[in-house]
Amino acid sequence: SLSEKLQNIFKSLRGKGKLSEADVKAALKEVRMALLEADVNFKVVKKFVADIQERAVGTEVLESLTPAQHVIKIVNEELIKLIGSETKEIIMQPQGEITVIMMAGLQGAGKTTTAAKLAGKLKSKGNTPLLVACDVYRPAAVEQLKINGEKQNIPVFSMGNNLSPVDIAKAALEHAKKNHNNILILDTAGRLHIDEKMMDELADIKKNINVNQTLLVVDAMTGQDAVNVAESFNDKIELDGIIVTKLDGDTRGGAALSIKAVTGKPILYVGMGEKLSDLEVFHPDRMAGRILGMGDILSLIEKAEAEMDADKVKQISRKLQKAEFDFNDFLEQLQQIKKMGDLGGILNMLPGIGGMNLPAGGLQPDEKQFSRVEAIILSMNVKERTDPAVLNPSRKNRIAKGAGVNISEVNRIVKQFEQMKKMMKQFSGMTGGKRKGGGFG
Ligand code: GDP
Ligand code: MG
Repeated sequence: SLSEKLQNIFKSLRGKGKLSEADVKAALKEVRMALLEADVNFKVVKKFVADIQERAVGTEVLESLTPAQHVIKIVNEELIKLIGSETKEIIMQPQGEITVIMMAGLQGAGKTTTAAKLAGKLKSKGNTPLLVACDVYRPAAVEQLKINGEKQNIPVFSMGNNLSPVDIAKAALEHAKKNHNNILILDTAGRLHIDEKMMDELADIKKNINVNQTLLVVDAMTGQDAVNVAESFNDKIELDGIIVTKLDGDTRGGAALSIKAVTGKPILYVGMGEKLSDLEVFHPDRMAGRILGMGDILSLIEKAEAEMDADKVKQISRKLQKAEFDFNDFLEQLQQIKKMGDLGGILNMLPGIGGMNLPAGGLQPDEKQFSRVEAIILSMNVKERTDPAVLNPSRKNRIAKGAGVNISEVNRIVKQFEQMKKMMKQFSGMTGGKRKGGGFG
């Protein structure tokens, strides 16, 4: 596997150290192969590898990772950036307006199936979609759409094979207005290859009715071809998003990455099977893991990253400041501190404390004490954690038993928690800025 190959390259580099240019070069040779094997377009690979090289050389290896894992971490992060850092959704028109979605793609890509899947997904979110059969070349396609619509109780609009797709789309829009459908999903005809007539037909629909979202459906199994297809469609009819189908197969999905890189358009959904429920929101991180083909390493990296999850710390410190936190936050904070290994990390992020001279090496938490507190909170039920006021003696007794501690210890923790909350309230009054005059009393 890629991971093993990288481990070999880094055999000489043990423990901490900076990644040298030679190390990175050797590692990236393997990464390059892995990407090409996963069907990533070679131009995309070339630029990608060059970017990584620049970023990786000279970086310090994270203490908790081996150099090989560190390179994979960088590769993974950059892959996610390349595929699109966040999940994107179909952009809907404002309430009261109809959102028109047009499916485009080659024959067999999965347009008809995906149109029905998408309608089901949107319906479950409270929409009232109307499926529209604009594939006038294949009578079977109309039938297929009807069957898939019926299965989900979604209306399908069709007018046979004699009218043009434009006329059908126009009529469907009128129908939707009368019947309160807030989404129109146009299933269109594909061809086996890129074809002028097909493009003209799609362009014609866009000229005549206001299509809000043009979605390209591509088959992940077509590999490199999918990239050219996406590029042509985007040039001719300007896409808004992409749906990659048949990712349930054993293809690595590198084509998906290339499509995003080449067209710049987001991948919205992925098809994971033939069933109507097999449409999933696209997660760039999962795709990156799949392309690199190394779930284990990635979860290891995730763990390492959690250790320095500064965002989480910030979030907790914000809650602390507002004194809005409960035992759930308290627990999360404890676990975070335990992971980070020192209190200084968190304290430094608290406005007003950050920048103060903390002891070198931070404030070391007492592991044993931490575990006891953790056990006590874990013995509380949801209600008790969110609303500590309900903690009466019998509840405390139960919690103490569950945590294997004395009831006095539970009392102490609850008291400390209340004190901390009170202190934070005062503290936020002092530093909050907005509430001038202090928060005492
Ligand atoms: P169209 O010609 O673009 O409309 O393609 P269809 O919707 O008719 O799909 C072509 C074939 O691909 C059908 O047999 C579908 O069941 C199948 N298909 C579509 N999406 C998926 C998917 O995500 N996974 C799998 N395994 N098959 C799919
Ligand atoms: Mg079809």
